[in-house]
Amino acid sequence: MARTHLEPAAEPEGTAGYVSPYPYLERLQEKMEERLARKVPSRGRFCGFCYGRLREDDECCPFCGTPAADDGPPAAGRRPVEEIPQPVLRAYQARQKTEARWVHGGAFVGLIIASVLFIVLELWGPGPLGHPAAGFVVLIFGGYLLAQLFGTVIGAQIGYRAGAKRRDELWGRFLAERDGGRREDPA
Ligand SMILES: [Zn+2]
Repeated sequence: MARTHLEPAAEPEGTAGYVSPYPYLERLQEKMEERLARKVPSRGRFCGFCYGRLREDDECCPFCGTPAADDGPPAAGRRPVEEIPQPVLRAYQARQKTEARWVHGGAFVGLIIASVLFIVLELWGPGPLGHPAAGFVVLIFGGYLLAQLFGTVIGAQIGYRAGAKRRDELWGRFLAERDGGRREDPA
């Protein structure tokens, strides 16, 4: 069985220096975040492999390419499911939360640096730099710029990588449990 679309991607298509071994996860991230925020119904018709939402007439999953076999032999594809399993949703949530933590943490670091600069200027700033007005400019505009730099620029990059790795790890574990140990005993 040649399921090439499910194999890890060989070509680099990642951002921020991280290449996901499961490219369909990145395609699904936004959709899963909508589902996590309950902006879309939790029930529906989902791909039996990656849990991407399928339209009624989709014969193949638009995210991972798995044939959606509503009836017919299981070998022809995977039967669509009605709901996304919780461990799968948690994997996407891990990516979302990790990235958000890095963005907020980075912004906080930027604000701390601006505050320290403010204090330094107030205490030791020579001439006009020691004037409170200069200090407040540094505090407000410097704080804004440093929060952007450390949060939205640097934090987001690190957070993206860390979050995507975590999500992929959780997905890999889920796959191993779902498909790896096809036990005979109906536990
Ligand atoms: Zn799929």
